Formats: sequence, C-alpha cells, structure tokens
Amino acid sequence: MEPCEYGRFPVRDALEIVLIFDRAGKIIYANTQAHTHLGYEGDLCGRKIGEVFPNDFKMREGGFDTDYPFGEETRKLVAYRRNHTCFPVRTRILPESGENPGEETYICMAIVTSQEDYLNREVAQVKQQARQALKVKSEFVANVTHELRTPVNGISGHVRELAGKETDAEKFRTLKVIERCCEDMNKIINNILDFSKLEAGRFVLEPRRFNVREMLSYVKSNHISRITEKGLEFFMTVSPEVPEYITGDELRIGQILNNLLSNALKFTSVGRISLEVFRTAQVNDKVELFFMVIDSGIGIGDADKDKLFKSFSQVDASISRKYGGTGLGLNICKQLVELMGGRIGVESERGRGSVFSFSIWVEADVGEADAPGQPGAGYDGPPSAEELFRREGCDDVRRYGGGENQKALERNLSKLILCVEMENWEKAEMFTETIRELAGGAPREVSRTVLKLKMAVQKEDYERAIAGAEQLRACLTGS
Ligand code: ADP
Repeated sequence: MEPCEYGRFPVRDALEIVLIFDRAGKIIYANTQAHTHLGYEGDLCGRKIGEVFPNDFKMREGGFDTDYPFGEETRKLVAYRRNHTCFPVRTRILPESGENPGEETYICMAIVTSQEDYLNREVAQVKQQARQALKVKSEFVANVTHELRTPVNGISGHVRELAGKETDAEKFRTLKVIERCCEDMNKIINNILDFSKLEAGRFVLEPRRFNVREMLSYVKSNHISRITEKGLEFFMTVSPEVPEYITGDELRIGQILNNLLSNALKFTSVGRISLEVFRTAQVNDKVELFFMVIDSGIGIGDADKDKLFKSFSQVDASISRKYGGTGLGLNICKQLVELMGGRIGVESERGRGSVFSFSIWVEADVGEADAPGQPGAGYDGPPSAEELFRREGCDDVRRYGGGENQKALERNLSKLILCVEMENWEKAEMFTETIRELAGGAPREVSRTVLKLKMAVQKEDYERAIAGAEQLRACLTGS
C-alpha cells in the first residue's frame, strides 16, 4: 500500500525516516522508510507522535508535552514499532510555522543507529583489547629488557676487570671492543625501555631544581673527546638570559641533548658541531628554553625529514648499515619534549648540515625569570637555519679547492698519517672516509690518489698507505 502523501513532498524515498506532525501531535506525513521501519503498512498518518516516541512525547488532550529541543540540535531517541519492539534513532525535529496561527507543524528526521551503535560498541571493545595488548606488550618488553640488562652489566663488569689487568696489547684491544659493545647494547636496552614506557603512557617525568650550565657542561663532557678525536670543532653558547637554576627533569633534558649530539657526531665528518641555548618566552615563573644542535654533517633530504621522528625510522637502509642505530632516539626525544610542553623540529639540507631544535617549559627560581636580557626589546631570538649554515661554514668546507676545504684536507691527512703510523686502522679508515668526502669534485689525479689510499688503509697495508698519503699531500700542495 502507498504511504500517505503530504503534497508533492520529495522526501518520500529518502534514506532516513521522515515524519511530519501537527501541533496536536497527529502524524500528517510519513515517508516509505518510516512505514518500513515502524512496521505500519501505510496507516501511520493519523496516529500520534507519542505512539512512535512514547518516552519523549506525552500525549494530552489537544497536544503533547515534551522537553525535546526543537531546532538544529540532534538527540538520540528510542522509536517504537507497531508491535511494541523498539530501536535507537538519532533525530532532529524542526518546527515550521503554518500559514495561520495554530497551524504550525514539526518535521522529524530520524536515522536508525542500531548498526552505528553496534559498530561503536565494537570499536570500543577493539580499543580496549588493543590497550590491553599494549599493556601486556610493554610489561613484557620491560621484563625482557630488565633481564637483558643484568647479564650485559655482568659481562661489562668482568671485561673491565680483565682489561685492567691485561698486559698484552692485542688482548687489551679486544677487551675494549667487548666493553664498547656492552655500552652500545645498554644504550639500545635503555631506548627500548623508554620507548615502551612512553608508548604505554607510563612515563613519568621527575622534575627537580638544578643548575642549567652545570648540566650543559656535563653533557658537553660526554661528547667532547669523541668530537675532537674526529677532528671536529665544538662550540657551546648559552644566552645570558637563560636562568642559572631551573626546575625540570635534568636527566631527561640531558638525554635529549645527548641523543642529538651523538647523532650530530655520527653524521658529521668535517666541520663543526654547536650547541646553543636561548630563553624564548616567559609566563610568570615559567620560562621556555630553546635548544639548538647544529652540525655541518651529511644533512637530510626534504622527503626524509617527516620520517625522522617516527619510531624505528632511519633515512634509509644504507644509513643503518653504515652508521648503526635503532631509529628510536628521535622518537623518544619527541615524546619527551612533548611531555615537557615543547616541540622538536629539524631544518636540514643534504650535504649542508642539520639544525635540530627543541623547546621546553620549565620553572625558574622566583626573581630569576625576570633576569636581565629577557625576551623583549633588543632580543633577536634564535638565529635561522640559513644563518647558522653560513656561520658554521657548512658550504665552504665542502667546496673543493676553497681555503676552508684545503685546511680541512690537510688537517685530516695529518691525522690519517698519525693513525697509520700507530697502526690504528679503524681510525685511519674514518679519516680516509672524511678525506674522500672533502675531495668530492677534485681533479681526477687527486680522486685516484684518494682511492688508492683508501684501499691501502682498508687492507691495512702500511707501506702503501704512507706512500698514498705522501702522494696526496704532494697533490694538495702542488709540489
Ligand atoms: P638512530 O639511533 O638510528 O640514530 P635516531 O632516531 O636518533 O635513530 O635517528 C634516526 C635517523 O635520522 C638516523 O638514522 C639518520 O638517518 C637521521 N639523522 C638523525 N640525526 C641526524 C643528523 N644530525 N644528520 C643527518 N641525519 C640524521
């Protein structure tokens, strides 16, 4: 049977239920969906809206009582079928003023949400299961990493003891390698532990009052010997407006800086690494500190920048083969920085270097936040990446033949010769690699000499390595 009509209303075949009722609550129009869902065979018109929504429309003589918010707002109701079974709907009821007073009508549109509710329940259940699985996983990871740490510490303790007594140079070197491997493994274990705690939302910061400059010089002392060993320069600048004492998680701030500096060191073979600290904002006794770690290393291409802060992400597989690492460090840094109310980012260009920067909010001692030089008049803010690249001489050092480039080549060549003479082949290989980078774009004769030198070093051939180095020196000085 045809549903009742309401003029030439175009919503007859609408996908949602449409009911129109008058001021007395009498249904004067119902579309096909209304008849189908409510189980009436075309005889909905003339019935009362209170039959369909008995919980929300109480019928009385000549009208109805309701607290329904007519208008744009939607509300979830329970609709009753003719056979008194019910189902959930999301409704919107719009009042329409009639041509004459007292002729207003109400248009009710309703979407059946049984399916939606079912899906929402399913989603909630899946989320709950996922949370549970994550909890189990992070507990498992925490236990395993803890169990791993004990034997690794055992090995490194014994190895250190043996190394302390060892007189044979070869054996001593081997023991030192094992010790270093244990250190690396400990770093990985700690990273996995932090990562799983952060992922499970179980990470808690431990703020306490500490001296910023002392923390920074401790961080510097962790890296300075490796930086200079590699022939790089290191600069640290702390703006005077940075407070002396702050309250924050010293260990974790140090961890972020250590990570960024280790990366800078890992990916830089020529030039320099800098650490700069500024105070960029202040609200009452809270200050925003801004840290920049700048290097003149291999840099990162635009396409890879987005991947950096994701977990287990390295720029490409060749990076992990050549430089090692788990790809967890920057993700941990990002999460820690965000826990401290800040943001982390990178500006970089392939072959030109990188600037990693992050901000954090900390508490300063009363009075310290108002120290002179606060952001305001005369405060220029942190320098731009472009300015930094120029200042660090990132371009000059790589341009073959330029003054900076020649100085860097000579410096690295002298270090290489020293390493070959001491038969420290591992380091010699590192310097040859740097020389190869610096000689990019050199005339053929120079590139060929560098290649021969590299092969000699790789084969640990003393005579040829010394000869190659001398030949290269002659090429460079033009003698
Ligand atoms: P990993 O432990 O592998 O170094 P990170 O999360 O610290 O993990 O770094 C992820 C990747 O980001 C690195 O493998 C490298 O490809 C890139 N990267 C990080 N820092 C630098 C940098 N200073 N210069 C060039 N590439 C970098």
